[in-house]
Amino acid sequence: MDIAVIGSNMVDLITYTNTMPKAGETLEAPDFALGCGGKGANQAVAAAKLGAKVMMVSKVGEDIFAENTVKNLQQYGVDARHVTVAPGTSSGVAPIFVDDQSQNRILIIKGANAKLSAADIDAAAEQLKACSLIVLQLEIPLPTVYYAIDFARQHGIKVILNPAPAVAGLDIDYACQCEFFMPNETELEILTGLPTSTDEEVLRAGQMLLGRGLKNLIITLGNRGSVWMQGDTVHRIDPTVVQAVDTSGAGDAFIGCFAHYWVQHGDIAKAMQSASAYAACSVTQRGTQRSYPDAETFQRFLT
Ligand code: ADP
Repeated sequence: MDIAVIGSNMVDLITYTNTMPKAGETLEAPDFALGCGGKGANQAVAAAKLGAKVMMVSKVGEDIFAENTVKNLQQYGVDARHVTVAPGTSSGVAPIFVDDQSQNRILIIKGANAKLSAADIDAAAEQLKACSLIVLQLEIPLPTVYYAIDFARQHGIKVILNPAPAVAGLDIDYACQCEFFMPNETELEILTGLPTSTDEEVLRAGQMLLGRGLKNLIITLGNRGSVWMQGDTVHRIDPTVVQAVDTSGAGDAFIGCFAHYWVQHGDIAKAMQSASAYAACSVTQRGTQRSYPDAETFQRFLT
């Protein structure tokens, strides 16, 4: 195994409607779609589609979604042996309402993701020890994230921590133990309490976090590209210019791709260049996991 993602999976329940019902009202909506998501699963799938050997440690509910989630991961080549059922819970679901202006209204029910625990990491320990990188996000309980970081340190495994969704109470001392800390600009703003609207503000907020002892801070800035900060060095990666159709899951595409290339060659700037192009390619298609190109499609996009 190259990469282990210890994180979330979600079922996207997407209703297309321009009218939301009021309390007590029942309305018909024109269309519906089911999708596989969750930040952890998205990042695992992105890396696997590029050819990385990826395993996932995750929890599904005791419901009809569980089997579909496991099958979906396996179909993309993700080792789902450690995706297990949390008895008596629902799977993580995200009812999403999309109107014809492409505005999203999203509810997140964490469900089984809230049950992922240290015991699940222990159960997967032997396989995890063989990985060179562990990728973490914050859609699972914080104590589990901290346990995973401790586990990685004990076994000399590098960690990417993607602090998404942002949790104001995140213990930065744990983030400092990770090789990479990868927020987007909104998460950086919530974590630091500083504005991040301009490049200058982003760098100032970044410096504040770096001052706490982070190793590598990589900030994604949507269509403005991304920045890598290490000590006093700032490395800017310009965005790949594309006609964006749907930017959902771009950050996950970026992280999954970065993980794959960094494990391959260890060159941070080069891995960011690839991740930037990969995420740009993904925003030219609708959806999240299904918009992530496989290795062959990505090569075609690059040439
Ligand atoms: P998130 O999905 O977490 O909000 P971002 O919006 O920062 O993440 O996007 C992650 C990366 O995806 C960016 O750093 C950039 O490389 C790429 N990206 C996102 N939106 C666009 C876009 N409209 N055009 C080109 N690249 C994009």
